[in-house]
Amino acid sequence: MKIRLMALVGMIIILASGLILSGCGATTTGTKNDKIVVTTTIGQIGDAVKNIGGEHVEVQSLMGPGVDPHLYKAKQSDIGKLQEADIIFYSGLHLEGKMLEIFEKMNKEKPTYAIADSIPKDKLRKDQADNTATDPHVWFDIDLWKIALEQVRDGLIEKDPENKEDYIRNTEKYFAELDELKAYSTEEMSKIPEEQRVLVTAHDAFNYFGAKYDLQVMGLQGLSTDAEYGLADVQSLVNTLVERNIKAVFVESSISEKSINAVIAGAQDKGHEVEKGGELFSDAMGKEGTEEGTYIGMYKHNVDTIVEGLK
Ligand code: ZN
Repeated sequence: MKIRLMALVGMIIILASGLILSGCGATTTGTKNDKIVVTTTIGQIGDAVKNIGGEHVEVQSLMGPGVDPHLYKAKQSDIGKLQEADIIFYSGLHLEGKMLEIFEKMNKEKPTYAIADSIPKDKLRKDQADNTATDPHVWFDIDLWKIALEQVRDGLIEKDPENKEDYIRNTEKYFAELDELKAYSTEEMSKIPEEQRVLVTAHDAFNYFGAKYDLQVMGLQGLSTDAEYGLADVQSLVNTLVERNIKAVFVESSISEKSINAVIAGAQDKGHEVEKGGELFSDAMGKEGTEEGTYIGMYKHNVDTIVEGLK
């Protein structure tokens, strides 16, 4: 009888401690193998979270290679990935224009950060066509991108203060690599001759990039690919190409080539040969596992491709 009672008491203790344990677990729903599950939108953010979070995070990005964030609508499987996340990082500034409602909803349930919101407003660029809109393509200015990534670091620290030192150290290491990338890009871009410093692409993703490296940027579509381009836009780009004797225009991995082909054909009609200078990664990165599947790799690829096409 006594033994039975003791066994019963023991069982109650085990059950109770189990409840306490699962109670603790409930505050970190979705955690797999003790890692913090992070869901991001564009790969550029996912790559940064991997670098800053290191061994403590498991990252899933909703938007893979070739995906256009301006038009992207969440799929059923994405909702699952957002629901099982411990933290969500997205870019903001209306980049993910069709997902705002979902992020608002998620923000009530778990830490959900629009990382570009932490960049001081006076450092952001306006849309050239529409002065009320902000240009969301901030990852092309490495200094601004670092400000946005401090939000990633701070968000991880808030969620997992125990590993604060790791997040700080990883961020410092990654920022040093980004500084190297900036030095490389500045050096390479300076090789483009003065008269060739015009970058023509399918949509206005490169204004921060152009401002940084003294390059005039002309995109066929506005800041968001949601806008249609018109014949007048094609004609004005063609005129610039002919007048300034520009050698190359560029396609983007996440945008159809159709618009850029129209520009090349238009220039040809005027007797001016324009080359397709190669593919740039603007809003989406390259395939996972390749150089271009990382932020630093895609940035370098863009710099090398632009310099090669225009110098
Ligand atoms: Zn874009």
